[in-house]
Amino acid sequence: MILVKSFGILKECYRFLRNVIALSALEYVDMDPSTPLITLGHPLLRQPSQAIEDPSDPGLQPFIDQMLKVMTAANGVGLAAPQLGRAQRLIVVASRPNPRYPNAPLMEPTVMLNPGLIAASDEMEKGWEGCLSVPGTRGQVRRSCTVEVAYLDRWGQPQRQVWQGFIARIFQHEYDHLEGKVFLDRVEHSGDLLSEADYQARVLEAR
Ligand SMILES: [Zn+2]
Repeated sequence: MILVKSFGILKECYRFLRNVIALSALEYVDMDPSTPLITLGHPLLRQPSQAIEDPSDPGLQPFIDQMLKVMTAANGVGLAAPQLGRAQRLIVVASRPNPRYPNAPLMEPTVMLNPGLIAASDEMEKGWEGCLSVPGTRGQVRRSCTVEVAYLDRWGQPQRQVWQGFIARIFQHEYDHLEGKVFLDRVEHSGDLLSEADYQARVLEAR
């Protein structure tokens, strides 16, 4: 009888501690470098983000560093601020070969505040995409082959850039996040979707 009661108390303690930990994680969402990415179903992934009015905001640089850390740790090649819980127009494009994208070209990670799409080529191509906020799924998406973009760099300086191929694809994917869209919205047929495991086995290993 005493044992049963003790077990009940232990269970309550466990529940209490679990709730405290969960609440702390929410409270410190902007501070913890291991912040989990929000995933499909979270309303922030479905709302348009706001322009960054003040690039010198002291909270911005630590948040950008956090984005870079989370993206790198998760083998991403890009990330948008809403994926870490901030509805701000801020993205990172950082193509590099990694286990999720072994054929990705290598580039210097590029942080973009308030990115704008100046031009997108009429020429389009289908290619495979995944998303850290849509774990376990890959899909083929049609994107412009070339884009010309304008943005402020992380220090607030205006920049302009033309990208092609996979890097142009990453930009369009991340830009979509700022509009409340995910790549699944652009998949034309359900047959263009694969599980991550099937993608690894059928597509990557066939190359
Ligand atoms: Zn994504």
